[in-house]
Amino acid sequence: MKRFTFLFALLLPLSLFDMSAMAGDGALRLRVKETERTQGEFFIVEAEGAQSEPTLFFMERKWQMFPEKEGRWTAMVPVENLSAPGSYAFLLKDRERERRQKVTIKASSLPVQHITLRGTKAGLRATETEKTRVRVALRTITPEKLNSGPLILPCNAEISSIFGRKRSYNGGAATSYHKGVDFGAPSGTPVLAPASGTVILAGTVEEGFVVHGNTVILDHGHALTSVYLHLNAITVREGDPVQRGEEIGRVGHTGISTAPHLHWGTYLYGISVNPLFLLKENSL
Ligand SMILES: [Zn+2]
Repeated sequence: MKRFTFLFALLLPLSLFDMSAMAGDGALRLRVKETERTQGEFFIVEAEGAQSEPTLFFMERKWQMFPEKEGRWTAMVPVENLSAPGSYAFLLKDRERERRQKVTIKASSLPVQHITLRGTKAGLRATETEKTRVRVALRTITPEKLNSGPLILPCNAEISSIFGRKRSYNGGAATSYHKGVDFGAPSGTPVLAPASGTVILAGTVEEGFVVHGNTVILDHGHALTSVYLHLNAITVREGDPVQRGEEIGRVGHTGISTAPHLHWGTYLYGISVNPLFLLKENSL
């Protein structure tokens, strides 16, 4: 008994010493992968040497960071497509320590797209059901990473409309922009999950998705979600886990849509980012 007490007394201070040495040793580091990004893209931010969960601020907002291996924390911070170009700074805080990194946001100059909607579809307004359910789903923040490895395209077809173009409907003012990429494909073309994740929304026209049409939203973790609109059929259910490459639905013409196509949108913290930039960055 005496021997055990002695041993315990010896080990306890040693282990405490080790722990404090590990936590206090590392200098706090803030890294931003590329410090110049265009509207609709995102910054890849990494923190090291934090003693507790670090706090990241950018454009007057706090961004949740996610723990990775060996004490690293990461976040993909979106640059909203309508944010003003110019100089900004990231601020990382860990207790009383602070680190800053200046970054630049460049303008994406794309021509305005004029869209004419005819007949009954011109008068369609999104219902409260679809607006609320879509908004809530796209803002999902899951601290776990649900995908690893490169993304794939969700549809094997030509891109008919790119991300970010400002839009005018029936001659009105261009105050909105295209929050995704469109693939022009025949009705019934399979739609595949471009990354693994969980189905967090499967909504139908009958349930009130009159503008979005039949809709699927996937959660990929680390504040990344993706949306698929105008589907002919939905082949998954809410709560289902999906693997990259798995079919989630079929291309259609439901909701506000001038021809059969897939609209694919990707969101970070509920903010629309260019899906093709995400594909190119391969940073999941
Ligand atoms: Zn679209």
